Amino acid sequence: MAVPCCPEAVAAPAAAAPAGGHRFSAAAGPLPPDVVDEVAEACRSWRGGGSVLSLPFISEAFRELQHETQARLRRLLGLPPGYQVLFMQGGASAQFALVPLNLLGLDGAAAHLDTGHWSRRAAAEAARHARVVTLRHDALDEPAPPRETSPVAYLHLTSNETADGWQWPRLPTSPWPLVVDMSSDLLTRAIDCTGLGLLYASAQKALGVPGLTLVIVRDDLLGRARPSLPGVMNYTALAAADSRLNTPPVFAIFVAHAMLGWIERQGGVPAMARTAARRSHAVYQALDTSGGFYRPQVGPAWRSSVHPCFGLAERALTPRFLEQARAAGLFDLQGHPDVGGLRVSLYNGTPEAAVSALLSFLQEFQRTHG
Ligand SMILES: *Cc1c(COP(=O)(O)O)cnc(C)c1O
Repeated sequence: MAVPCCPEAVAAPAAAAPAGGHRFSAAAGPLPPDVVDEVAEACRSWRGGGSVLSLPFISEAFRELQHETQARLRRLLGLPPGYQVLFMQGGASAQFALVPLNLLGLDGAAAHLDTGHWSRRAAAEAARHARVVTLRHDALDEPAPPRETSPVAYLHLTSNETADGWQWPRLPTSPWPLVVDMSSDLLTRAIDCTGLGLLYASAQKALGVPGLTLVIVRDDLLGRARPSLPGVMNYTALAAADSRLNTPPVFAIFVAHAMLGWIERQGGVPAMARTAARRSHAVYQALDTSGGFYRPQVGPAWRSSVHPCFGLAERALTPRFLEQARAAGLFDLQGHPDVGGLRVSLYNGTPEAAVSALLSFLQEFQRTHG
């Protein structure tokens, strides 16, 4: 039997949610209003010319846009020289295969750290193309890292497990170059580039809209692709053609450019990291002080600052929680389908009002159902 919805039992959030409510989906990061305005305007006319929607990739204007986007990324990430910044398509999921196909040549093995849903997806896909050694997240602390018959070329890890709410507090030190899937926490915290071999991320969570995949690769890892790899998927060929081997995702690059500009104006990665820490701390504190009504899914040492995941002690109340959250204008709080429970996404573009409305709702739901 469906639980009747009783929105009147829930106090209205301090500020009314905007039209369409506040969205907490993990699948797409919200864009700040300034960025949406900039994009909307550019769809009509950009830099005194035509619409950005039909900007030719062979134009000087696009080359400039691309170089500014790359420069903003380099500045924000504090990227040392010796790395290529590539713009690709196919999402992070394509990189699960393209990383081994580009970096391993015809032999060689990849080590993968197993920390949750996305690292397992990455390892499963890589294993279709290469020898994969799976390691627990604490395997590197052991006196001698596992030895392999074929040489291990790199160590893959997922810096933030979007589905599980589990995050590396800092990148581990490793005997092999690190390959990091940063799709869901790119530019939400500083990273130490020492030991970084390759970083990849889909754009739709941290950088704007779907269609663009960012790949940052260290020069010494180039030149090892399998000969059969299609040219447009070959890092070395892309680097040589400055990511314009064929038509790049022009519009998604434009949105990333606008989002990166916004991040710079806010104070860069240090400002983003402070915000992420403050917001996630407030959410975890609400969960931790609920007397067990809310159950955080991850212990303090490994908690994600982007994706707090939790359940209700009384699991049968979960549909009612989601229903009343929607009535209060708070959407997409359900956990990843393979993990269940509840999940908050705190991306850089998530408005402050969304977080405070959520915090009030958590309190109010407990007050009326605890
Ligand atoms: C969303 C996500 C992916 C998959 O991204 P696609 O663009 O759908 O391929 C991979 N890894 C992580 C950590 C993610 O959060």
